[in-house]
Amino acid sequence: MTTHRLAVIPGDGIGTEVTPAAQSVLDAVAARHGFGFDYREFDWSCERYRTEGAMMPADGLDRLRDHDAILLGAVGSPGVPDHVSLWGLLIPIRRTFRQYVNLRPVRCFDGVESPLRNADVDLVVVRENIEGEYSQIGGRINSGFPDEMAVQETVFTRVGVSRIADYAFRLATTRRHRLTSATKSNGIVHTLPFWDEVVAERAQGFPDVDWDAEHIDALCAKVVLDPGRFDVIVGSNLFGDILSDLTAAVAGSIGIAPSANLNPERDFPSMFEPVHGSAPDIAGRGVANPIGAIWSAAMLLDHLGHPEAATEVVDAIAAVLSETPLRTPDLGGTATTSEFTAAIVKRVA
Ligand code: NAD
Ligand code: MN
Repeated sequence: MTTHRLAVIPGDGIGTEVTPAAQSVLDAVAARHGFGFDYREFDWSCERYRTEGAMMPADGLDRLRDHDAILLGAVGSPGVPDHVSLWGLLIPIRRTFRQYVNLRPVRCFDGVESPLRNADVDLVVVRENIEGEYSQIGGRINSGFPDEMAVQETVFTRVGVSRIADYAFRLATTRRHRLTSATKSNGIVHTLPFWDEVVAERAQGFPDVDWDAEHIDALCAKVVLDPGRFDVIVGSNLFGDILSDLTAAVAGSIGIAPSANLNPERDFPSMFEPVHGSAPDIAGRGVANPIGAIWSAAMLLDHLGHPEAATEVVDAIAAVLSETPLRTPDLGGTATTSEFTAAIVKRVA
């Protein structure tokens, strides 16, 4: 029997509630398909930062590297600055393990109401995950004085833009052959014109993909007015981050949205995590929507070579939502995390 070694980092807040939910779905579907998981859990979190002064131990990345994949909940806690949890854990993992693709699929499920009328969404945001606007280059001077200023550099490399564009175009060829590149080359005069040029170059290798570039502001408006026209949207680290929260909300709830931080070369583990954060406002009550985490686990199954099992998990989510009144409160229901998860487990087992 194949056993996959998974590193599990539940993190903080509802991360610790939705991650075990995803694991129980993984176990149930794996048992039926004749494979299994061997989990190693790590308590790396803002909680750990409070007691040990660091989100993870100094050799944390080394400890993760010989796993087949990483399952992460969410990190973040009131009182711990968000840049600590991001730069102390998530960004080092994404960068060191060359997880340069962040895939964020979005779709409307029957039985989940979108805040929009007639939304029919089925798209994937492909976010560049290791360069772009999230850089450490820059600084602050004249702290506290009237002339105080902050400067932050954005980094786009030819290699980085080419490979994310290629990934997105290739993905579009497996879907509806439509690609939109998010830009803002009318206002940002160095980096985004470069992004546009490289994307246009890579497009030549995919003549059967119908593509265009849209300025991020207009693109956000179009996502709200007519989300059904989008298939694959590729964007920089910042634009992809913003767009995926927007598209997830358009589909009904950020609690549903999954993500995969992929290392396509597979020389390091990839990481799977819901798009949402630790949701301190609802943490500890057992009412978090586990769909984002469970769907992320389905993406993990796909990545590890179990596409049928992955499809069964997503189909189970769709079936429970359309055939039963079970819903967590963010979707207008009264179900708890464990009640909803039990219904999914029953379907896939
Ligand atoms: P959030 O996603 O945690 O919450 C936003 C809103 O959505 C809240 O009202 C929350 O209750 C609701 N929500 C989110 N997930 C839900 C779910 N599964 N079920 C039901 N409702 C859900 O974003 P935030 O409030 O901006 O951030 C809270 C903390 O999480 C911060 O510390 C932030 O830095 C962190 N964060 C972490 C990640 C990550 O770990 N990848 C991502 C985003 C935010
Ligand atoms: Mn985000």
